[in-house]
Amino acid sequence: MINGEVNNITIVGGGSAGWMTAAALSRMFGTTHKITLIESEEIGIIGVGEATIPSIHLFHQLLGLDENEFLRETKGSIKLGIEFVNWYEVGHRYMHAFGTIGKDTGMVQFHNYWLKSYLNDPKDDLWKYSLNYQAAKHNKFERPEKVNCAPLDGMPWAYHFDASLYAKYLRKYAEAKSVKRIEGKIVDTKLDAETGYIANVVMENGTEVDGDLFVDCSGFRSLLMGKALGVKFLDYTDILPVNRACYAPCQGVSPITPYTRATAQDAGWSWRIPLQHRIGNGYVYCADYISDDEACSVLLRNLDGPALADPNIVKFGAGRREYSFHKNCVAIGLSNGFLEPLESTAIHFIQGAIARLIALMPVKGIDKNLVDEFNEQGATEFDMVRDFIVLHYVAQSSGENRLKSKFWDDRQKMPIPETLRHKMDLFRNTGILSPNMYDLFKYPSWLQVLVGQGVIPQNPHAYANSIDVNNLQGYLGSIRQTINNAVAPLPLHDDFLKRAISN
Ligand SMILES: Cc1cc2nc3c(=O)[nH]c(=O)nc-3n(C[C@H](O)[C@H](O)[C@H](O)COP(=O)(O)OP(=O)(O)OC[C@H]3O[C@@H](n4cnc5c(N)ncnc54)[C@H](O)[C@@H]3O)c2cc1C
Repeated sequence: MINGEVNNITIVGGGSAGWMTAAALSRMFGTTHKITLIESEEIGIIGVGEATIPSIHLFHQLLGLDENEFLRETKGSIKLGIEFVNWYEVGHRYMHAFGTIGKDTGMVQFHNYWLKSYLNDPKDDLWKYSLNYQAAKHNKFERPEKVNCAPLDGMPWAYHFDASLYAKYLRKYAEAKSVKRIEGKIVDTKLDAETGYIANVVMENGTEVDGDLFVDCSGFRSLLMGKALGVKFLDYTDILPVNRACYAPCQGVSPITPYTRATAQDAGWSWRIPLQHRIGNGYVYCADYISDDEACSVLLRNLDGPALADPNIVKFGAGRREYSFHKNCVAIGLSNGFLEPLESTAIHFIQGAIARLIALMPVKGIDKNLVDEFNEQGATEFDMVRDFIVLHYVAQSSGENRLKSKFWDDRQKMPIPETLRHKMDLFRNTGILSPNMYDLFKYPSWLQVLVGQGVIPQNPHAYANSIDVNNLQGYLGSIRQTINNAVAPLPLHDDFLKRAISN
């Protein structure tokens, strides 16, 4: 760090985290900073992160990516939400659809109006008020500028994509913008004797690569933050015990459904992610409850088409580093932490950390306040998402039809974070939902998962309760009608994709 200036950035790792970081930093600092990325083809990347949430648009906007080109290059498809099957009860389905539910009504949250109607008639399903859900279930999609859905909010979307192709796509972008790539294995990390800062990393061929700031994107190995700097890993496996996934692609089927599916299984859950050229499938499980062989056979039994490869197994543990910024190192991606991919949040965590790094980029020296701010924001966001994921496990039907196994019985007995307990009790007892400002998932997300998992308040808000039933039905009926009118003329998602990738 010459004169304390921070203008030489070395990124360790070339998975999604490494190349997303390289692309974004080269976009912002490509002409002023030296940016180097080191990766080892021999070690390779994890390459299973295939589903995203709508915040990815902000990242792509920063890079100025063309959506049609992106879909073509990554064999991507559109994602309007996640369908949860068997979570509340066997045979039960609900969706965490992106976008709003109903209509923003100012002081009184929409679900209170729905609740009054639902308590009177349980056939009044919450998802009749979700544009994304209705489009997803009809396999339809169009970009919002062409969706005639006023006066409702638009239809936010995310993507499914091939993670290996995504890393390659971003590599092309970053290298064209001045990022220097070094191929090879890092075998050692040298620390400055006085400050404890990382001075350089040592390659297998003996070359040393220095940096003012190091970004650790080395995946689960956490070469810099974990191994070299010894930052503690905070273990969340007592509340999120799944620790392995077996995964295998299979041949695609038509239509390419514009949503992810997550199905509860005896020892965890399985995912289904449809892309243009195949379907990605995986079974996320806890090894205390099922063997690898059994998990692989459950996975293979449930494929929609012939498997395109033998199943692979990856091991992991839920948790995060105590600090994601420490000394002169920032950890981004799996090197910082991991939560099971139930709500497709890992790529969001990567872009969130990148956005923080850009916003708080050190200029002269590394200020302790800036480091504390970085760590506080990242930790809060991570822990709120942890609570959201735990909610799927702890709220389950108490009836005969719930999925019964030792794994699920144990989930009913496990401790619940106090922050989550408060949210669930507040909603169940009063109908009030108030996500924290750093919560990645906002009101409509919590609402859908709470209701989908059977947490339903018994009393609507006093104002909604006071509305005349006929007036209420008129109001709710007009929203349902607007949504149906908006969905009817939309093109099929398959047709949208064909058009998008040929442009
Ligand atoms: C089962 C599973 C399913 C997932 N599904 C989703 C999903 O649906 N959505 C989502 O958002 N996320 C998902 N994720 C997370 C997602 O895969 C990762 O967040 C993402 O791929 C980022 O990985 P990474 O870049 O941190 O690590 P990796 O892909 O592991 O990359 C690590 C890099 O470090 C390099 N490296 C390591 N050691 C060395 C060394 N000694 N020398 C040189 N280079 C080295 C490697 O070569 C590689 O380039 C999933 C993860 C798992 C495990």
